Amino acid sequence: MRDQLSRELLNWYDLNARSMPWRVSPQDRAHGIMPDPYRVWLSEVMLQQTTVAAVRAYFQRFTARWPTVSALAAAPDAEVMAEWAGLGYYARARNLLACAREVANNHMGVFPQTLSGLRALPGVGPYTAAAISSIAFDQAETVVDGNVERVMSRLFAVETPLPQAKAELTALAASLTPVVRAGDYAQAVMDLGATICTPRNPLCALCPLSKPCKAAAMGIQATLPRKLAKPVKPTRTGTVWAAFHRDGRVLVEDRPAKGLLGGMIGLPGTEWDGRESGPPLALDWIGAGEIKHTFTHFHLILRVMVGQVSGTPNPERGRFVADINPRDFPTLMQKAYDLAKGSEFALESKIGS
Ligand code: SF4
Repeated sequence: MRDQLSRELLNWYDLNARSMPWRVSPQDRAHGIMPDPYRVWLSEVMLQQTTVAAVRAYFQRFTARWPTVSALAAAPDAEVMAEWAGLGYYARARNLLACAREVANNHMGVFPQTLSGLRALPGVGPYTAAAISSIAFDQAETVVDGNVERVMSRLFAVETPLPQAKAELTALAASLTPVVRAGDYAQAVMDLGATICTPRNPLCALCPLSKPCKAAAMGIQATLPRKLAKPVKPTRTGTVWAAFHRDGRVLVEDRPAKGLLGGMIGLPGTEWDGRESGPPLALDWIGAGEIKHTFTHFHLILRVMVGQVSGTPNPERGRFVADINPRDFPTLMQKAYDLAKGSEFALESKIGS
C-alpha cells in the first residue's frame, strides 16, 4: 500500500515536475545525470524561509559568478553579502561562506555524502542535510519541510496540532520514502505540496493521492495541518540617519558581524530596543517618516532621519561612500534609504529657503 503511494507520486512527478535552475529533471535523472551537490546545497540554503520565485534570480546570479563551491569559498565576504542583500536572514549568508570554505579547504571541494558528514558543515541543519543527501546523492533520507508536513497530515488525517505533530509526521514521511529514486521522491512530495496540496483550497481532484487520502475522504483537508496559535510578536523601535553629502556620497557603516543583519552594510542607527542615541553627525536633521519591517521574532518600526552635509565632515561613526548601490543594503536598509532619498527634495527646499 505504501509502496503504491510512492509509485503513484513518482509517476505524477515524471509528468509534472517543476522546472528549477538547480534541479535535474526526472527524465535526465533516468539517464544517469545527477545534480551538482553545490547547486543543491546553495538552493536549499537560499530556499530556507524564502520562496522559489524569490530565489531563482539570486541563484542564477550566484552560480554565474561563483560556479563552484571553491569559487564561492574564495570570494571576498563583502561581495557575497552584497549579492545576498534582499534575501533576508543574513546569518544564512555568513554560514554559506563558512560552509563553502569548510568544503573547499577541508574536503577538497567535494561535499560529503553522508548525513553525519553533511550535518558537521556550518549552517547545515537536519533538514538541509537530508535534502542534500537525498536530492544530490539519492540516499533514502526523509526530507520534511512545511509542504511535506501538510501532505502527510492530510494523507493520514493527523489532527494533532503542530509543532507537537512533527515527530509523527516525520515518521509517516519516513514510512513512504522509497529506497529507489529517493531524491525524485523527496522533490515529488515538495512539488505536490507546493502546487496541488496547497495550504488553502487544495486541488484534490487533480491529486494523484486523492483515493488513499484520509483527510479528503473526511472532508477536513483544508483544516489540516492544525497549528497552535502563534504568540504575538512584540514591536521594537529604532532610528537610522541618512546623511547625504552634496557631492553625492552617503554615510554608511558596516554592521557588527554578530546579530541581526550582521556583517551587512547599512545606515548608521540606534539599537532596536527603544533606547535613543545621538546621530553620527551634528546636522539639521529632518524626519523622513517611518518604515515597518517584520523579522522572525518581532516587528520593527524604524524612524528615518535625513540630513544634508557639505565640506569635509567628520562623522563619529561610519564612512561616506560614493556610488552606493541600494541593492548592496539588506531589505530593511533599502527601505530606509529609499524613504530618505524621497525626502531629498523637501530637504533641498528647507536648505534653499
Ligand atoms: Fe492533499 Fe487533497 Fe491530495 Fe489529500 S487528496 S493529499 S488533501 S491534494
